[in-house]
Amino acid sequence: MAFTVPELTYDYESLEPHIDAETMRLHHDKHHAAYVANLNKAIEGKAYADWSIEALVRDWSKLPEEISSVVRNNAGGHYNHSILWSTIGPKGGGKPEAALGKTVERELGGFDTLKKELSKAALGRFGSGWAWLSLDPLKRLVVASTPNQDSPLGEGGYPLVGIDVWEHAYYLRYQNRRADYIEAFFNVIDWKEVNERYEKAMS
Ligand code: MN
Repeated sequence: MAFTVPELTYDYESLEPHIDAETMRLHHDKHHAAYVANLNKAIEGKAYADWSIEALVRDWSKLPEEISSVVRNNAGGHYNHSILWSTIGPKGGGKPEAALGKTVERELGGFDTLKKELSKAALGRFGSGWAWLSLDPLKRLVVASTPNQDSPLGEGGYPLVGIDVWEHAYYLRYQNRRADYIEAFFNVIDWKEVNERYEKAMS
């Protein structure tokens, strides 16, 4: 079964002015589609073609050497972007409530600290990568960044929400102003969805 790019559940325009429609169109229809196409091409007809996306992201290093870095980058690209589209939306913004809200208070000292730490991780990631709020292997909240298309999943963690800091995610509207993009990104994070990911992971 070949992998496919998940449909957006909202319009390209609906994240304006924080994320522009043209960036959404290119990011979803071209960049994400390229990760999926490259991944499918790499694993087609191979014994591991029926692995789940999670297994490919977690265990790419167990694959034959000539294919492992292609799978690392493109399975990661597919997995990370699928999380991205499902955790942002036109109803985004505000801060986490429910179970996640309580844990953010308890483990990270509140939303203001979380926002500061996540922004710092996103701004400090040199080159391309992602900043994440994720669960560590002991299911504690942690803020960190990964290079390229690596995922916290590869380190035994579980990503809840990530900020894509590849230039393709922001350059059309924000050019070199990554900090402005990061600030704007908080207006589109759908914390209800992020909380659902959290509750599912904890259950
Ligand atoms: Mn991206």
